Amino acid sequence: MAYNWTRVLRSGMSGNDVRELQIRVAGYAAATASRTFIAVDGQFGAGTEGAVRRFQASYGLTADGIAGQQTHTALNNLEASNGSTSHFNWSEFHSKDGAQFSNGALSASQVQENVRRLMYKLEAMRRKLGNIPLSINSGFRSRNHNSNVGGASNSMHLYGSAADVASSATPTRMADVARTCGFSGIIRYNTFTHVDSRAETTGAGYYWP
Ligand SMILES: [Zn+2]
Repeated sequence: MAYNWTRVLRSGMSGNDVRELQIRVAGYAAATASRTFIAVDGQFGAGTEGAVRRFQASYGLTADGIAGQQTHTALNNLEASNGSTSHFNWSEFHSKDGAQFSNGALSASQVQENVRRLMYKLEAMRRKLGNIPLSINSGFRSRNHNSNVGGASNSMHLYGSAADVASSATPTRMADVARTCGFSGIIRYNTFTHVDSRAETTGAGYYWP
């Protein structure tokens, strides 16, 4: 599957295609550690333009901040046929009690949409780390599963907006890179790093200890 881009997207435009663009470049929110994220509002402003430029640079394209055919192709190459992203499967983010995306803080379809947005940020994170595989230790959690593993009562895992990520990179290195990927919650553990999008999901403040 690929999104049907029908026009060249540039600053000042608005629409659902701009929203889809924002979701896909959200992991390129900043060049250096910054408490910022790309709002998925369908309005192509300066933040979106900067993210498009950084996405283009990362893929060896002309970094003009205008999403034309080459950028559309690069974006579509990131999308899997079932609507997930090319390096992540929906099942990796399913609640480990068999609930899949159900019984969380939002409807299953809303959770799946949050997971989709999370996947694009993680695609950027893995690319910035040198195209290394990222393992998802924990993605979405149903309320039952979250309570069974001792998760916080308002955990972003209940929304499909969080992932516990392990890889060949150190948790510190992963956390450093996550600070450029539009995440608003980052917690470094001994063997993995938790990342989440709490600011976008519930309006919560940034948490970067
Ligand atoms: Zn976590």
